[in-house]
Amino acid sequence: DDGRNTTRFFTREMKAKLQQNKEILTDLAESLTQDHFELYYQPLFTIDHKTLVGAEALIRWHHPDKGMIPPDKFIAVAEQSGLINELGDWVLAQACRDIKNFVNAGILDIKVAINISPVQFKRKDFLQQMLLILAQHDVSANCIELEITEGAVMDNVDQAIDMMQALHDAGFQLAMDDFGTGYSSLSYLKRFPIQKVKIDRSFISDLENDDDNKSITTAIIQMSHSLGLDVLAEGVETKAQLQYLQGEKCDFVQGYYTGRPMPASQFIETFKRAKDT
Ligand code: C2E
Ligand code: CA
Ligand code: CA
Ligand code: CA
Repeated sequence: DDGRNTTRFFTREMKAKLQQNKEILTDLAESLTQDHFELYYQPLFTIDHKTLVGAEALIRWHHPDKGMIPPDKFIAVAEQSGLINELGDWVLAQACRDIKNFVNAGILDIKVAINISPVQFKRKDFLQQMLLILAQHDVSANCIELEITEGAVMDNVDQAIDMMQALHDAGFQLAMDDFGTGYSSLSYLKRFPIQKVKIDRSFISDLENDDDNKSITTAIIQMSHSLGLDVLAEGVETKAQLQYLQGEKCDFVQGYYTGRPMPASQFIETFKRAKDT
């Protein structure tokens, strides 16, 4: 009897969830035509917190009725439906427009990091599509770092390596995002033509108190360095976390401690540089 009720309960829950996802999808498609999205930018610094080296573009959805919706609430739905491809195209195009404003403000030498969904990455025409958008905006691939997750590469490693190599040959920098949370096949890491590893926030958030996370973080840094890769720690919220990472010779830092995601206009206000005329 209990089992039956449980089953019914989940069925109802699932039905509600499906209905909710359908609504999100309809609204997403509508919002794409109406420009209801925005990119926020979170600064990326050298580990001494002295030099700005980049910015991660993080999408925000300004829903006409529901207000701001975070990506965790709609990226998965967009992925299931394939709409992520159009959304991803919008992200790169908007990043190109923002990069031009950064350059005009004297922020010349940073890379803008963009999150790439596994769905996008696995498309045969992914590189072509990226290059087309860059050409339309007259922006160089050298300005862009692509953040790829293990989920994008692990089910066809050889094909993924070919794609990564082609992307890098075209001028993109490549970072392995959320490192440590997926299958984390260390043996594959050395075969990937990537330049950077991003240690996932889940290992950093409790670094002061958790010896396991300390060990994992140190191991990722050392292993990445031995493979000639740069390492960035994401989700750094405290001075103690930053100091630990500095001691372990991590290369770059990102997190609320050094800067929150912010609108492009605020990013420019914060980091604009006097032009040497
Ligand atoms: P992510 O790639 O791991 O991005 C970092 C997330 O951590 C961001 O959440 C950022 O706001 C948050 N964060 C940064 N520093 C801190 C910190 O010190 N403490 C805490 N608690 N959080 C911090 P956000 O913006 O909500 O994005 C969530 C996820 O959504 C991203 O995780 C990424 O996987 C995905 N996402 C965001 N924008 C895009 C996009 O344009 N395309 C795709 N495909 N995915 C995106
Ligand atoms: Ca990311
Ligand atoms: Ca992460
Ligand atoms: Ca991610």
